[in-house]
Amino acid sequence: MTRDGVTPEADAGYRAGLAAALAAGGAVLAASGSAVAAVEAAVCVLEDDPHFNAGRGAVFTAEGRNELDAAIMDGATRAAGAVAGVTRTRHPVSLARAVMASSPHVLLARDGADIFALEQGLEQVEPGWFRVEERWQALQAMKAAAARGESLFDKTLKYGTVGAVARDNAGHLAAATSTGGLTGKRWGRIGDSPLPGAGTFADDRSVAISATGSGEDFIRVGAGHEIGARVRMLGEAPQAAADAVIAELRGIDGDGGVIFVGADGSAGWAFNTPSLLRGRVSAAQSAMVAIFVDEA
Ligand code: ASP
Repeated sequence: MTRDGVTPEADAGYRAGLAAALAAGGAVLAASGSAVAAVEAAVCVLEDDPHFNAGRGAVFTAEGRNELDAAIMDGATRAAGAVAGVTRTRHPVSLARAVMASSPHVLLARDGADIFALEQGLEQVEPGWFRVEERWQALQAMKAAAARGESLFDKTLKYGTVGAVARDNAGHLAAATSTGGLTGKRWGRIGDSPLPGAGTFADDRSVAISATGSGEDFIRVGAGHEIGARVRMLGEAPQAAADAVIAELRGIDGDGGVIFVGADGSAGWAFNTPSLLRGRVSAAQSAMVAIFVDEA
């Protein structure tokens, strides 16, 4: 997003959503909860917030549906859980956590994932719960463009995937990501968000990261795992590793960003877009949020 493309109301809404997510995740950590519980709590807030492309407010597929992807990863054990293309679970991130905790698998997709959610007793909603008019209009605009012969798939569109990373009192790391994917996606397209090692990654030996951006490119560079590997094997600081991988992403025409927290306690972000909706809180520092590249 650019400054002139955002109304004051939307700007305030994004910042309020980020602050609420930081408060939810921060409260878990302040009560000595786990990093996994903290990232789930933060992402649940953003999934319910219609400003973001996850849960309520997710973008629409070409067929006019909301198909949700999410992942969570525990840096202490490198256990991971993920779901792709779910349509009825209010909190896909909680379903991803159930896959991690209560199934022998890492990634469940589509109908099977919805069935697993029912079996796990996770809150189900009518598909209309996720619908937000602005996202619907974005699909209509894309279809009109397609009718004029323009590509239906435009990876330069505004993103809006949500994610959280955390380091808890015990020094354990975790990451979670949740998304509706890309407007107009079809053929069961799945992006980087629910793929551990691509859009979501956590390893206590290096970093936890969550990504947003042109998912296909994050998959191709294995963004999350690559940042972790640079820290673990090259001894780079998390910021330097994140910067290097975003530069590498740009080299294959990719756009987006990551948030990270390192085993060393450093935390931040790297991105090559005009904005990244982001925020940070710690025991030592009160919460801050920012949107545009020129904000501190
Ligand atoms: N990375 C997400 C995807 O490709 C999109 C986003 O970040 O908004 O599904």
